[in-house]
Amino acid sequence: MIEATLAHGDEAKKQKMTSEPEVGTDTKDREDALLDEIAMRHKKVLIRRTGVIHGTLPWHDFRNATTWRRAVQIIFVLINAYIATAFYFWVRHFETNAAGAPPIRPEGVEGWLPIAGLMNLKYALTTGVMPEVHAPAMLLLAAFLLTALLLKKSFCSWLCPVGTLSEALWRTGKRVFKRSLYPPRWLDIPLRSLKYLLMAAFLYVVMAMPAAGIEAFMMTPYGLIADVKMLNFFRFIGITALITIAVLMLLSVVIPNFWCRYLCPYGALLGLLSLLSPTKIRRDPDACIDCGKCAKACPARLPVDVNRQIRSAECTACMSCVTSCPAQDALQLALPPKKIVAANGDTAQIVQRWRRRKLSGAMVAAMLALIVGGIIIGAYATGHWQTPVPDQVYRQLIPKAQMLGHP
Ligand code: SF4
Ligand code: SF4
Repeated sequence: MIEATLAHGDEAKKQKMTSEPEVGTDTKDREDALLDEIAMRHKKVLIRRTGVIHGTLPWHDFRNATTWRRAVQIIFVLINAYIATAFYFWVRHFETNAAGAPPIRPEGVEGWLPIAGLMNLKYALTTGVMPEVHAPAMLLLAAFLLTALLLKKSFCSWLCPVGTLSEALWRTGKRVFKRSLYPPRWLDIPLRSLKYLLMAAFLYVVMAMPAAGIEAFMMTPYGLIADVKMLNFFRFIGITALITIAVLMLLSVVIPNFWCRYLCPYGALLGLLSLLSPTKIRRDPDACIDCGKCAKACPARLPVDVNRQIRSAECTACMSCVTSCPAQDALQLALPPKKIVAANGDTAQIVQRWRRRKLSGAMVAAMLALIVGGIIIGAYATGHWQTPVPDQVYRQLIPKAQMLGHP
């Protein structure tokens, strides 16, 4: 149910492709020759994608979506490293009761408060009033939900630092062990449903809270410094939590995106919303040569090479499949194609079909920057970005943060 992909490919085609020879690893020329051979066998002509060299786009080609994604991931990791460091020094200022004005509080830290964001979203939607405390948590959550509505679960593979770490771990594991482990389907499906159960539990608790209860919670000492409590969780981490994180990281080395695929409730929510996204990975069977490279490149193991479009909630719009495809206009992150019939795989017609429908890596990066940056700038301009809590309150609460329990 969760892996809802459109099955346009038939079983016979699937079997034919699984018996396809592995794409060449001997030499790059052999890879080129193999692609032509595969195309011929399927009675197709391989029109190579502009810029493709030896079956793939080089990393330094500006059309390579993976390069754009990596750049965005690195920028987001650096932003989060700055936020963590600046927030730590801000907390220390109050903990040590230092004299003078406190350092600047990086409001972006609220992006790490998804539950507060969800509670405030419910509060804002039911009362029509902007929440006083932790408004940025809600605004950032709204920005990320919007990215899912427009660009599939791109938050996970483009922005989320946990997703970036997860990807780095499994790619390292694959390099070291020369392979990744994939749980069999009978285990994979129930494991994947765990994140939906966690999501449902969070949604249930938040939805059951009345707006007045949410407002009262945010004004409690615990609610006011929920961000400090979150930082302290990592600063004074217990042995059980440490072991749990270590186990998750080890599992992520051998099983691609273990946390994201099976346990992350945030990703589950984004994934469900992403089903409504008009942009999807779309394959054009007229241009496709059935080489299967896209499916091999997909970390979510989606049948990209068989289906016309990928509707799955597991698709993170990472565009690894697009980058790996050697054929012009065969695979893209795109809006639905224009209804143009391409007789005998006419290349010009195929190009027309996808004109102004495709999203490049650069466009995805720009759209993400526009959505997230636009919401932050809007919040800043309207005075909803900076915390309204006075410094004196922080001076009182932060030194005793460890003693404050959940109300
Ligand atoms: S490789 Fe393609 S189909 Fe697979 S998750 Fe990434 S974008 Fe989606
Ligand atoms: S869409 Fe997939 S199967 Fe078709 S040519 Fe591209 S990589 Fe090969």
